[in-house]
Amino acid sequence: MVHHSQVPFIDISRFEDGFHQAVMERFASMTQKAQFIGGQVVADFEAELAAAMQTGQAVTCANGTDALQLALRAAGVGREDKVLLPDVTFWATFEAVVNVGAHPVTVDSDITDGGIDFDAFQQAVLSEKPKAALIVHLYGWGTRHLADIRSFCAEHNVILIEDGAQAYGVGFRGAPIFKDAQIATLSFYPAKVLGAAGDGGAVLTNDPALAQKLRQLSNHGRSEHYGHAYVGWNSRMDALQAAYLSISMSHIEARLASRRASVQFYYETLPALGVRVMKPPSDYSENGYCNVCLFEDVAQKSRLEARLREAGIGFGNIYPGVMSSQPGANPFLAGHYGGAEGQSLCRSVLNLPLFPYMTDAERNRVLQVVSEAVGEYHGS
Ligand SMILES: *Cc1c(COP(=O)(O)O)cnc(C)c1O
Repeated sequence: MVHHSQVPFIDISRFEDGFHQAVMERFASMTQKAQFIGGQVVADFEAELAAAMQTGQAVTCANGTDALQLALRAAGVGREDKVLLPDVTFWATFEAVVNVGAHPVTVDSDITDGGIDFDAFQQAVLSEKPKAALIVHLYGWGTRHLADIRSFCAEHNVILIEDGAQAYGVGFRGAPIFKDAQIATLSFYPAKVLGAAGDGGAVLTNDPALAQKLRQLSNHGRSEHYGHAYVGWNSRMDALQAAYLSISMSHIEARLASRRASVQFYYETLPALGVRVMKPPSDYSENGYCNVCLFEDVAQKSRLEARLREAGIGFGNIYPGVMSSQPGANPFLAGHYGGAEGQSLCRSVLNLPLFPYMTDAERNRVLQVVSEAVGEYHGS
């Protein structure tokens, strides 16, 4: 019997030579000096991040969910305000709206790129007069309507917050996707593209006054040590996380290149098997965060999942259900615009293994199992 090795859905423990040592040396010197909160290490990381994302300002915080809440609070969103958000996203997007006291209105998704349904979005803006709208850059790229959404929101005085938790390294029209965003957020959850040694997040903006308010909100609303201009909370990034992220940033181009090579492999091989693969719209260069296969035939999808499971190949379904039908949404949902394409998207998505430094053998093994499963299904 031929022994085939298993392939994990994600393995984020494959680091470059010297990476760990650099981290350990940095941590040793920081802990010896008790550099734990704020200070130069955090300021340096924020400057590196702002430069890399081509935004004037980067304000770090405790995690990507707080980044969304900080963005909403800094934009003045609060009680009685309505906020639009996509029906297909991670739950944190919905939570953030509710946690600042605002009313979430979901908008259907577009199955061609995973972004928001732009027609439904425009209708929702005109009817609901929301104070803000959240859009989410899923899977490693953004919506094909990004430029139109930005100008539509500007025309209608809707604050546009872009949840870019998954979008570090995404290029839009030749620049980082965040460059011209009014407000955007990042997550440094370890499995994201730029991952911390724990939790972390950031808010990006070109507006210095907004950045100042974000900094204050994330540090007890402080105007001075015991002066509080706002009721904020403690959402500071640890200095050790900032140091870890700085060191990681010096390897990020190699990690992105490796992710993109695996994505390219899937694009070149899966369609020939009859597998439909979602690809970024032409304005984008992706970061290789997710592989997205679409199986409208539910029986075929479960057959493939069973075969992957038997073969020890990891897979995912990002995301299996829409926000508006989560039990936790019930008491808060203030409306839904558009149809149910988001639900078809959630039903259809199957994600194959993808992470930095996947080997050729692993990619080929995934392809072999998919090919056999799809072949069996078609009776070949
Ligand atoms: C991961 C993620 C978040 C939340 O980030 P955390 O750092 O885990 O709080 C929010 N939105 C999206 C789209 C995400 O993928």
